[in-house]
Formats: sequence, C-alpha cells, structure tokens
Amino acid sequence: MPTDTSAHRTWEAALGRLQLQIARPSFDTWLRGTVGLSLEGQTLVVGVPTTFAAEWLERRMQGLIEDAVTAVVGDLQAVAFRVSGSTSESTSAVAVTPAAPSPAPPLRSAGLSARYTFDSFVVGGSNQLAYAAAMAVADGSGSVYNPLFLYGSVGLGKTHLLHAIGNRALAAGRAVAYVTCEQFTNEYLWAIRERKTEAFRQRYRAAELLLIDDIQFICGKEGTQEGFFHTFNALHDAGSQIVLTSDRTPAALPLLEERLRSRFEWGLMADVAPPDLETRTAILASLADRAPVSVPQEVLDFIAASVPSNVRQLEGCLNRVTAMAYFTDVPVTIDLARQALGTTIAQEAGPSSPKAVIAIVATHYGLSPAALVSGRRDKPVATARQLAMYILHQSLHLSPDETGQIVGGRDRTTVLYAIKRIASRIKLDPGFAQEVAALTPATATTTNAP
Ligand code: ADP
Ligand code: MG
Repeated sequence: MPTDTSAHRTWEAALGRLQLQIARPSFDTWLRGTVGLSLEGQTLVVGVPTTFAAEWLERRMQGLIEDAVTAVVGDLQAVAFRVSGSTSESTSAVAVTPAAPSPAPPLRSAGLSARYTFDSFVVGGSNQLAYAAAMAVADGSGSVYNPLFLYGSVGLGKTHLLHAIGNRALAAGRAVAYVTCEQFTNEYLWAIRERKTEAFRQRYRAAELLLIDDIQFICGKEGTQEGFFHTFNALHDAGSQIVLTSDRTPAALPLLEERLRSRFEWGLMADVAPPDLETRTAILASLADRAPVSVPQEVLDFIAASVPSNVRQLEGCLNRVTAMAYFTDVPVTIDLARQALGTTIAQEAGPSSPKAVIAIVATHYGLSPAALVSGRRDKPVATARQLAMYILHQSLHLSPDETGQIVGGRDRTTVLYAIKRIASRIKLDPGFAQEVAALTPATATTTNAP
C-alpha cells in the first residue's frame, strides 16, 4: 500500500512521543511496526497488522494517541486505524487469511463505530426479532416499524445494533443522525439557552434516519421531552425513520410524558434478551477469530458456560484469557481460563492470584504489570493502580497493608484513598462500574450475592 510521506513522518514523530509515555511491552506489542498511511482531512489513518490490534488501540489508547499526534501537527482531530498488509513482520505463527472480508471504512463517521456492524453481530433466538427489524429499517424497507424501539438490559447488543443500522444506512448514502440521549439533551438545553432552537430543529429534521441511544435517560427531563416530542413528530410526519434503544419497555419507564410513551409504542418494540448457551458460544467463536492467539473450542465452551448472560462480560473474559496467554506466552487452556477468570482465585489465595489481578488490570489499560506496581504517577498508571488496589481489597479480601505491599509498597492511607476513589466513581458512572465488574474475579461477585 503506498503511503504518503507527510502522514508517514507525522506518525513517526508521534510514535517517538508515545514511546516515552507507554510501557515498553505495550508499545512493542501494539505500536511497533505500525505506519502512517494517509491524511484524510483532519484524520490521520494509521496502518496496523490486525483487526484485533486496531480495536485494541481504538479502545485503550485512542485518546493518548490523538494527543500525541495533535502535539505533532497542531490541529488534527482524529486518528483512525486501518488493517493494512504493509506493516512490518507479524509474530503470529498461525496462518492469516490473505484478505479482509470487506474493505475497512474509516472508523469514525457520524459518531458511529465501524466495528459495530451487522456482520459482526451474532444472531440467536434471543435477538432474532431485534436483528431482523434493525436490518429492515437500515435498508429502508421497514417503514412500518416506525419508531423501532429496541429494549433490553445492559451489555446485550442494543448499541451494537443501533450503530449497525447507522453504518449500513450511511453506506447507502442516507442522512443519518446518531446521538445518545445524553447528547441530545445537552444540545437541546444549549440551543434553548443560546436561542439557537431553529438551528437545532433544522439539524435534526434533516435526518432521514434518527438513532437515539439510551432514551431512558429522557425520563424526568421535561424540557427535553418537549423538544424531543416536536422533533419526533416532524420526522415521523416526513417519513423519516426513528430508532430508539432503552433498558426497558416504554410502559416501564418512569416520569415519561404519556404522549411520548404512546409514540414509543406506535411502531415495533423488539426485545434483546440474554443469549442462550449456544449463542454465547457462537459470539465467543466469532470474537476469538480476531484474538492474537488461537483459542481451543473447549475453552470457548468453558467461558460460555461460566458467564451466564452479559455479552460485554463475555467479551471481557475472552480478552482477559487471550491477553494473559499472549503476554505470558503460554497456550490457552481451560486451566488458564479458570485462572484468568478468577474462578479459583479466592479458594487458592496463592501468591499467583494477586499477580493475576495485577496482570489483568494492567493489560486492560494497555500497561505492563511492572508499570502498574512501579513508582510512575501519571494518570493512566495511577488509575489502573487504584483499580487494582480496589479489586485486591474488595474481591481477594486482602488487608490494606497487604494490598499496599502488592502494588509496589504503598502505605495504608494510599490504599484506603484509592478504594474510596474507585468506589465513588463506580457509584457515579455505570459504564465504569461495568468495566470494574468485568475485571473482577467471578467468585467475588458471587460471595456478595444474597
Ligand atoms: P448494550 O447497548 O445493550 O448495553 P452493547 O451493544 O454495548 O450493549 O454490547 C456490549 C458488547 O457486546 C459490545 O462490544 C457488542 O459488540 C457485543 N455484543 C453484544 N451482542 C452481540 C452479538 N449478538 N454478537 C456480537 N457481539 C455482541
Ligand atoms: Mg448501549
């Protein structure tokens, strides 16, 4: 693949900066051998060897990387990762499929994530109706399902489906507006305050497809409900498609105006339920295709059986297992999975268990275990360390003193402060709470069960 020289040089310079900021093993694993391919408007496109690497970088290091690139060029806005064959040596011993199944589009358009597509969504009994309806509205053949209301509890694929609709419609050239309910609320309140409601109206009314994620957050916000009501009617009258996701049915949403509730129920309500064992195994198999190490079927079965419901947790568990295997250079076995999932940690309480927690948390933040217990105080390391302390204390039931020892000889006050910080963030930020749950050994959650 030809690379343009300014993109190439920009990325080289950014890599130089990143090398100083990121722990060596992480840098070597994820960034060494990547190349700057092109500058597309305000976006620098970076070639990486695998989809897995692209996703890892996108999820764990995007902010850090964009800061580094911005420091080099000044006014850049985004970095996108693209799988390209032209990067240097791949260390994988496994044969790699010669060509990606579909050309990778830029990762950011209309705020949609390119990894959430219909292709990457595994269909099973639990999500069949939602999937079929989503496909229909994405193709524009589902006008009778207007609005389409997707509901179900967290981590089951609602956001994934919503992005999949957006990506597909966007590719077909339709005008798509995707927002979270939170963004919609903020924009609306801002428009009122700045007397820019006309611009607000125009922006949303231009959409052929309006996608709003987590509409349950509109509950109790009267002003926003008013604004949304008019937007909804205007779009609906114009024949535009509206898709909403929510963690429960309209009937179960509290503090929602009746006129909105009835409109939510106008079209089709489709639930996304927890996947059954078979679907969980299929989801894992499809995720495992993109892992850096190969995962035997029996291990996939083991994970599918151990994690009963939430797909996000399923994904987190698989990542933990493959990352541990990758970083410690051992094959993926059921034993390793058991260790990585922490199912034996509490029983064994052996010296390897706290080590496993450190490895898991460090890996999650793209750090080496050594960096996590080092003297470094920069934010990503400090946050990861605080979280490790929290898990060691809460889940492995280690005393503050023991916990402090394990994370590089911190004193009791530091440990207690860390635990408090993490606990309060968990309370305020449901996304973070889920992240912590995914990193926490399974036994810890069951010991707290009533
Ligand atoms: P929700 O919005 O319902 O809380 P998400 O859409 O964020 O859940 O899904 C959580 C994670 O699980 C995402 O990474 C998503 O890609 C993945 N996921 C959920 N359901 C499926 C599925 N059926 N097939 C593949 N991946 C899935
Ligand atoms: Mg969601």
